[in-house]
Amino acid sequence: MSVPLVDYHCHLDLYPDFENIIEECEKNEVHTLAVTTTPKAFPRNYELISKKKYVRAALGLHPQLVANRVDEIEIWKQYFDETRYIGEVGLDAGTQYYKSFELQKSVFQTILNTCANSREKILSIHSVRSVPIVLEMLERSSVLKKNKVVLHWFGGNANNLRKAVSLGCYFSINAEMFKSERSKELIRLLPLDKLLTETDGPFTYTNQVASRPINVLKTVELLAAMLGQEIASLAETLLSNLKKIES
Ligand code: MN
Repeated sequence: MSVPLVDYHCHLDLYPDFENIIEECEKNEVHTLAVTTTPKAFPRNYELISKKKYVRAALGLHPQLVANRVDEIEIWKQYFDETRYIGEVGLDAGTQYYKSFELQKSVFQTILNTCANSREKILSIHSVRSVPIVLEMLERSSVLKKNKVVLHWFGGNANNLRKAVSLGCYFSINAEMFKSERSKELIRLLPLDKLLTETDGPFTYTNQVASRPINVLKTVELLAAMLGQEIASLAETLLSNLKKIES
């Protein structure tokens, strides 16, 4: 079966066969957002991806790297005008990264301010254990007036979700999120017209192997089963959401 697929958060440059996986996305027509964790990786991503039809290169500075790479925000700014796509950025208040949380907030604030002065950017945002503050920062920065935001692997509660929806956020969901009842309940509450799919590969696995963009089909299947929809028609809805966010 061939249905349109969208993997709106994948770290293509972290696979040993980076160039090959780009071609795999092209060949299988998987619309893929290739996020980066450091702006130093952006030029190579851009070089390999910018002329491709199905893959986009995003400019990121991952919150988990901020403790050691805070100065790279200057490099991030240098490339800002070269792409419409920003990610992976955001906040991580997990135990391993909490020490740099204040620093992360200042970097994320700079990123939001830079985007707020721009237009038509699309941001893929990480918000581990920090959803309320991410939403508050989004609201205060007014970044959403002219740009679009995708909350990747959303882990907030129902109240956070309502607020995110009222702000106009999109959500990219992955197969891992179907493993807990709590997160399945959240997925049920997500508006279907704000939904995108992702793998977050290589940080998730499909049959014990790092997920590849093509494996995002699994998420479409899980979501179709949950909603009682046909896979093909759900895939078309997800593709139309992608077209809407990029319009
Ligand atoms: Mn990621």
